[in-house]
Amino acid sequence: MPHALGIDFGTSGVRACAIDSDGSILAEARTGLPAPQRAGTAVSQDPGQWWQALERVLDELAARSALARVERVAVDGTAATLLLCAPDGTPLTPALMYNDARAADPLAHIAAAAPPEAPVHSASSSLAKLLWLRERYPVQGARALHQAEWIAGRLSGRFDQGDENNALKLGYDPVRRRWPEWLQRLGLDAGLLPAIQPAGTPLRPLLPDLARRWGFPTAATICAGTTDSTAAVIATGASRPGQAVTVLGSTLVLKVLSPQPVFAPDYGIYSHRLGQLWLAGGASNAGGAVLRQHFSEADLAALTPRLRPDRPTCLEYYPLPAPGERFPWNDPGRMPKLHPRPTSDLKFFQGILEGLARIERSGYRRLRDLGAPWPTQVLSSGGGAGNAPWRAIRARLLQCQVSLAPQQEAAYGSARLAQGL
Ligand code: ADP
Repeated sequence: MPHALGIDFGTSGVRACAIDSDGSILAEARTGLPAPQRAGTAVSQDPGQWWQALERVLDELAARSALARVERVAVDGTAATLLLCAPDGTPLTPALMYNDARAADPLAHIAAAAPPEAPVHSASSSLAKLLWLRERYPVQGARALHQAEWIAGRLSGRFDQGDENNALKLGYDPVRRRWPEWLQRLGLDAGLLPAIQPAGTPLRPLLPDLARRWGFPTAATICAGTTDSTAAVIATGASRPGQAVTVLGSTLVLKVLSPQPVFAPDYGIYSHRLGQLWLAGGASNAGGAVLRQHFSEADLAALTPRLRPDRPTCLEYYPLPAPGERFPWNDPGRMPKLHPRPTSDLKFFQGILEGLARIERSGYRRLRDLGAPWPTQVLSSGGGAGNAPWRAIRARLLQCQVSLAPQQEAAYGSARLAQGL
């Protein structure tokens, strides 16, 4: 297996991770990205800033001679971050970031053309962004590319290829593996859309000038990338049907590897292709954000060792930070439930963790009811993953092994993807 480099464009910065044939980390580097420009629902960034950040990271790795044996490179980026560029890669528009929601105008048009299960019906979808940009910028000969695809283009010198995972929110049909016919009803010129390859497919050699600059071998090849959250799942090592990943961050994100895809737009559930399997997932609005409304990081660290997984609190909380839920229940009016509040902070904390664990169980039940396997093992990542008593609470409810993911960094996942895992 070749040495590989994974490059991650996440929400706050760029990371790169070089690994050897066994998957051991050889070197890592990271740098921050400037804050995107914001105006109301608009969130944009100059893609040139991405490239400058990547240059810093690769300069640093090159200075440590960490790239001399890297034969495969894959890039992940924030999902639905999109720009239009010229065939030579020159940006023709700013990049509309993953959380840009200005593209509301095209939604009626999309609703009339796209099937409900396509994940294109929100103002932050890549497709809504593309239609919005098309009305405002010259698109003759332009290419629509996601963040990871454009960076892969800068590394390989070609800007006409994308990957199946990023393409999903642009309307790509991952089941039939093609751009669907309904896109034509939106008047989209086929030349705008990249040719799509499965994530991890070797695409083109790294540009010789760049290979020389950073000390890569001449055989270094750029592979089709993925989204940042998919790369983070690959990082955990999950690879078999039934292996699941729960991300315990500000929100609660569940993903399970499934032999068949699951699409349920009402619950915000969709599936990415990953090798021979599908990664089916959904996200609850409940999550660690609620803990941060009531506790400091120091409180959480101090209380965690005192939790009693063997003594359930019997508090029936539904810990939402604000009204409204999508998954496991589609209920925009659902209210947070955090009462009664016991006098003991410890009991209150445990009650919230138990409530989140019940939502996690309901989420995996929802995914199972829609056709995904019940988890055989849950790997945990995110800020709450290191909480061992919480893992015990979750294991009791889920009736399966719940462990801490040994690796969680998307950059590591992209490096594994580039190795063909
Ligand atoms: P995100 O990237 O989504 O903002 P992180 O993965 O950085 O989130 O995780 C941050 C979350 O982790 C916080 O919302 C916090 O509630 C949660 N967290 C931190 N420490 C603990 C702990 N000991 N137990 C449970 N959750 C924790």
